[in-house]
Amino acid sequence: MIANDIGFSLVFVSPFQFWFFWLAIGLSLGSFMNVVIHRLPRNRSILRPPSHCPRCRKSIAIYDNIPVFSWLLLRGVSRCCGQRIACRYPLVEAIVGLAGVGLWWRWFGWWPWVGAALLATAGLTAIAFIDWDTFIIPDELSLGLWVLGTVLAPFNPMFPGSVWAKIGFAVAGGLFGYLMCFGILILGKKIFKKDAMGGGDVKLLAAVGAWTGVLGAYDCMVIASFIGAIYGVYQIARKKLERQDHIPFGPFLVIAAIFNFFYLLPFGFPFH
Ligand SMILES: [Zn+2]
Repeated sequence: MIANDIGFSLVFVSPFQFWFFWLAIGLSLGSFMNVVIHRLPRNRSILRPPSHCPRCRKSIAIYDNIPVFSWLLLRGVSRCCGQRIACRYPLVEAIVGLAGVGLWWRWFGWWPWVGAALLATAGLTAIAFIDWDTFIIPDELSLGLWVLGTVLAPFNPMFPGSVWAKIGFAVAGGLFGYLMCFGILILGKKIFKKDAMGGGDVKLLAAVGAWTGVLGAYDCMVIASFIGAIYGVYQIARKKLERQDHIPFGPFLVIAAIFNFFYLLPFGFPFH
């Protein structure tokens, strides 16, 4: 009997149960997102060539390419030619790595979902930084996440019911996010005669709806508008921004969307 029990537990010890497994997956995904953030807006392949120093073109050894830790060990200076390595690289890795641990904690036991949500968080993080840099959200990421969120909906514990019901919730969330954002865009144009958002935001909100449903898309817009407004007022007060200056909205949508993977709050939502 005892041998049997041990055998039973050995079979069911999976790496998914350990937080450091998800930390490692998150850090690696974050490392890959650095490549995506750097190369996707420049229309360069995200697979070739492998990581190299942007200054002297020397390829980076594996032991100098370990997420976060290598940057700390090298104190932010490349081994090849003493080039400063921006702290954004370990920052992106740390964000996705911590998201891995957070999602492990929040959705413990729902392993396919932890993996899916972590992949989405990595994609959203890339969107935030690319939009911050270029005011563009690449379709590869927004439309890709929209499709992926719908296809992986059967694993989504935020949607109730059967497989088909879950896919239905994802489709409805995607359409709601798209139409709501598009409506606000048109309305904003009519009232303020300027663009507060762009078409990229519309597709991003559709993706958020596919992953977190109608309520998630609504929440995302409410939270993003709130922190975006706080940021705008703060920057105007510091005289860093003029009132008419453009702020990318994507990063705020992304912060809200990642929060939604942990908690969906009703926020006076009429159809809850
Ligand atoms: Zn170098």
